This record gives sequence, C-alpha cells and structure tokens, in this order.
Amino acid sequence: MTWSATDRYALEPAPGGLAFVQELLNTTSAGRPRHADWLDDPTTAQTWLSEALARWSTASGRPAPAVDLTDRDCEALRGLRRALRELLSDQSDGAEAVSEEVQAALPPLSVSMQVDEHGTVIAEPSGHGWRRVASLALIECLQAQQTGQRRRLKICRNERCQCAFYDRSRNNSGVWHDVRVCGNAANLRAYRARQREQAASGQ
Ligand SMILES: [Zn+2]
Repeated sequence: MTWSATDRYALEPAPGGLAFVQELLNTTSAGRPRHADWLDDPTTAQTWLSEALARWSTASGRPAPAVDLTDRDCEALRGLRRALRELLSDQSDGAEAVSEEVQAALPPLSVSMQVDEHGTVIAEPSGHGWRRVASLALIECLQAQQTGQRRRLKICRNERCQCAFYDRSRNNSGVWHDVRVCGNAANLRAYRARQREQAASGQ
C-alpha cells in the first residue's frame, strides 16, 4: 500500500503518521503535466481519503478512523489544505503571525485523549467529516512539532510545483522538492532575467 498522492509526484514519504499530512497536501494539482486535484469532487476525495486513512493506520499502528465526506467537507478540506500549506511554507519558526485566512480554516478542533492497553497516552482524532481529518492532521503536526520533524515537512519553493516534501538534508536547508527539477529551472529563470536586464541597460 502506498501514499498515493505523494507517490504520484515520486516523493519520499515523511516518517510515520506525519506522512498523512504530506499526503493531504499532495492531493493538490501540481507537477508537469499537471495532476488532478483529488479534493475537487466527493467521490475522488472519498476514495483517496479511505486509502490514506488505511495507510495511516499501518504507519501509526492505530485503527483507521471512519470518515464520510460530503460536498461541504471537500470545500473545507481544500481550505484546510491551503492553511496547512501556508503554515508549512512559513519557515520563520513562529516569528510571523499567521493570516486570518489560516485561522479561519483552522477553528478549534477536538481530540480524544486516551490511554491504550500498554499504558501509552494517545490522542485520537475526534469530530465528523472534514473536522476528523483536520483533527488527525493537527495531532500529527503536534507530535512532529515536539520531535522537530514538522520543520522538515516543506512546500517546494517553485510556485508552479508546490509539492509537499520531507527534507532529509542534514541541516534542513532544502527548499526544492528536487534540486534538478525545480532548483535548476528557477536558477535558469533568474539567469535569463539577469541577462534581459543587462541587455536592456546596454551592458
Ligand atoms: Zn518542486
């Protein structure tokens, strides 16, 4: 079983359950040729979500939450995806305030705190529809925040790409999902822009 949204962009999944957040981000339409947005209609979204939750269950060793999506849920999930993308694009480590749009897409969500049969404290997602998905995504973000892994889940800086990738570089300095694909293209554009400027100024 694969993380199908992340896999279609040929990306390595983030460790453990954090890969669910990456997977949600990669339902977006990106790449070249452009892949479809999997949150555009409830049928596609439901197929994707059921698979992703089953995959999350394998990664986390916890039961997959059951979620049924409506049209409205899809719209809210797209808002959640936008908000998460903005949160993960911000590399200022909390120095900058998040936008009102992000706050609106992420209202307070419930979690259910439990102790499992081994005595381990676990946070289970709570609520219905998109709220349960958002609850799960934020639980994974919280856990990743505590291990320092959240800072490694990033959005490719190439605006035409916007894939969500997990940066495994030693000093967490990556900005492109793939330097050869997106980094070189950006360097080439910058180089051509400089050439045009020089030509225009008659140098
Ligand atoms: Zn990219």
